[in-house]
Amino acid sequence: MVDLLRPLRINAVELLRRPGATLPVIEEISAEALGVVHERLNGEIDVAIELESMNDGIAVTGTVGAPWSAPCRRCLKDLTGVAQVDIDERYQIETIDEEAYPIENGQLDLVPMVRELALIELDAEQVCQPDCKGLCPACGIDWNKASCNCDNTVTDHRWADLDGLVLDD
Ligand SMILES: [Zn+2]
Ligand SMILES: [Zn+2]
Repeated sequence: MVDLLRPLRINAVELLRRPGATLPVIEEISAEALGVVHERLNGEIDVAIELESMNDGIAVTGTVGAPWSAPCRRCLKDLTGVAQVDIDERYQIETIDEEAYPIENGQLDLVPMVRELALIELDAEQVCQPDCKGLCPACGIDWNKASCNCDNTVTDHRWADLDGLVLDD
């Protein structure tokens, strides 16, 4: 069976011998191969990074792009885009930095890093525009397109409950 993730599993032995040497990794990886399950993910994940050999390991910089589709959080309009994650991570043989990923047997596995960062970015809430007005909770009209005369003065019941509460001190 072909290992689809091979491009993201790198033999770093040669690279580690030559501090300052760099290696580009430009790949499109399918979400299935990467094991990324996310309802918003909509296409292949773009990996465009560079590995640089350092004295104490390998620095990984570049971007990971994850195409997504999701409704606007406020007005529910369908949106699509590409979540771009800036990468600036370290791989170390001895993981001195708590944040660093391990280099095991001279192998550097970019899969956990790409997966982790792509998922964080896909979780971000999306709005169609920063000042999207949303939908009227009473009649459902799109406040970006029209206005209505609904009375939307809301009492927040979570706090109303606290009014009757007597605190012991
Ligand atoms: Zn919106
Ligand atoms: Zn309304």
